[in-house]
Amino acid sequence: MKTRDTTGSETREDKKRRTRAILTALRKEFPEAACALHHESPFELLVATILSAQCTDERVNLVTPALFATYPDAHALAGADPDHLMGLIRSTGFFRNKARNLIACARAIVERHGGDVPQSMEQLASLPGVGRKTANVVLGTAFGIPGLPVDTHVKRLSRLLRLTEAEDPDDIERDLCALIPKSQWTEAGHLLILHGRKTCIARRPRCAECMIAPFCPSAVPVTADRIAGGRRTRGNTALPIIALHDRGGKGSS
Ligand code: SF4
Repeated sequence: MKTRDTTGSETREDKKRRTRAILTALRKEFPEAACALHHESPFELLVATILSAQCTDERVNLVTPALFATYPDAHALAGADPDHLMGLIRSTGFFRNKARNLIACARAIVERHGGDVPQSMEQLASLPGVGRKTANVVLGTAFGIPGLPVDTHVKRLSRLLRLTEAEDPDDIERDLCALIPKSQWTEAGHLLILHGRKTCIARRPRCAECMIAPFCPSAVPVTADRIAGGRRTRGNTALPIIALHDRGGKGSS
């Protein structure tokens, strides 16, 4: 017997099928989907991901070569001079807080794990400056352990696609993981992030050129006319989406 989904008339099975179709379409658009942060070790990916909060991956990639040359591992970063570290990461924003977290995180890795980045969600998420999002990035990309990081793009898209109604990133992760096979969690995160950057842009979703518009309940019918104040106008029916962006698109990165 089909189970009615609590968020609407779509059954859970239907939603799983729709999610599968969304990921299939995104796979065609981004066949090489991968983490955009440059790194050569789990430690470097962890550091880069911490730096990526409220910052673009491109900016982080500009900063990390000099940073990793100076502090190549947790032992080196644990003993970093805070002022010197801040100078290296200043352009990523929130640099005082990030420097404090990076040093504390490196010290915890040295003290608790002998200098090696741990490979469990529980251990990673207990490190200073590391939440589930960062832990999932490291698990999925550095260790091949399935993880679905919920950043600002994943949060916005999953709500626009009505794959979840949750606001809290942990709840969104739970809802998405229930819809997507575990082996695809890491890839799904990459695909949604890439689509959010390229097409489903916050406050400016490009529905007319969106590969997954046929599966998106929030798609704007850009070719449809609408009647406004007695005049026919080309339809900008994006207001409901913008309202949803306002509710769901902030503060999760
Ligand atoms: S159809 Fe529009 S709102 Fe839906 S995912 Fe695509 S760009 Fe975003």
